[in-house]
Amino acid sequence: MPQNEALAGIGEVVTRYPALITPYYASLIDHDDPACPIRLQCVPDVRELDEMPGYVDDPLFDTAHNPAPRITHRYRDRLLLHVTPKCAVRCRFCFRKSLIGNSGGIFDGSMDAALDYIAGASGVREVILSGGDPLMASDEELSELFDRLSRIPHVERLRVHTRMPVVQPSRITERLARILASGSRTNGSAARTRVVTHFNHPREITVESVAACELLIGSGVRVLNQSVLLRGVNDNPHALVKLFTSLHRGGIQPYYLHHPDPARGTAHFRLAPADGLALFEAARRMVPSGSLPRYVIDIPGAPTKTPVEGYLGSE
Ligand code: SF4
Repeated sequence: MPQNEALAGIGEVVTRYPALITPYYASLIDHDDPACPIRLQCVPDVRELDEMPGYVDDPLFDTAHNPAPRITHRYRDRLLLHVTPKCAVRCRFCFRKSLIGNSGGIFDGSMDAALDYIAGASGVREVILSGGDPLMASDEELSELFDRLSRIPHVERLRVHTRMPVVQPSRITERLARILASGSRTNGSAARTRVVTHFNHPREITVESVAACELLIGSGVRVLNQSVLLRGVNDNPHALVKLFTSLHRGGIQPYYLHHPDPARGTAHFRLAPADGLALFEAARRMVPSGSLPRYVIDIPGAPTKTPVEGYLGSE
């Protein structure tokens, strides 16, 4: 493709899906490697403009389970609270790439209405702080939010989904760790707050990112990780084995390996589930069971995440 055409294509990509990369995450890019797994996750690609059948803006129907502002309530005992539409890095594979950074839809309205909904939903035991990235909120905002959530008696657990330890580990300060841990001391329950990070490749496990997670763990917060299986990034068993074992060694529990959702603009990252399962099985043979996450796929309407093995068996 001629260079001017390529540049025009990238311009169209970033108009539709803006680009944002932290200096820290950019520093991890290997500029001599065109297939660098860090680059592929954060640098815009013209393939994001490909329109593929079945790939949609809202593959998990977040907006169809939006009973109150900022809330996605899909499962009976837990719900998502979208704290902010902002992220530190715009991940090119993100299944919410058409929704984040957008003040409409699931992000409309005030936090008051969202917290009123949670207070009235007595079956909810766990609130998952999501976004965007909830740690884009200030310490003051998070402190107030944790305080207000801790006063809702039926909420037993808080879970924070964040990519901040991976893309901007300096955001994890002692003060922030104390705020997140404060959820662990309410209702007399231990380890009430869990932080779920999002490492996808062993090259993201650095001195800085491990130190950020250690700060959280040292403050009493349990840290787990969910990864996404991405074509070109981590679709080989050796990368997966190194990722899972390095996380486990750092005290971070590998929790889920997600099969990617069919989000518009991400088709070039997606493998066939059967190919994903073959990779996972190859990795499984090399990883101690305590380091192995569950390989799952989200099926709209299913009551929980579905193991890919079971999904293929039911096809
Ligand atoms: S940080 Fe999370 S929500 Fe934000 S772009 Fe990346 S994957 Fe999507």
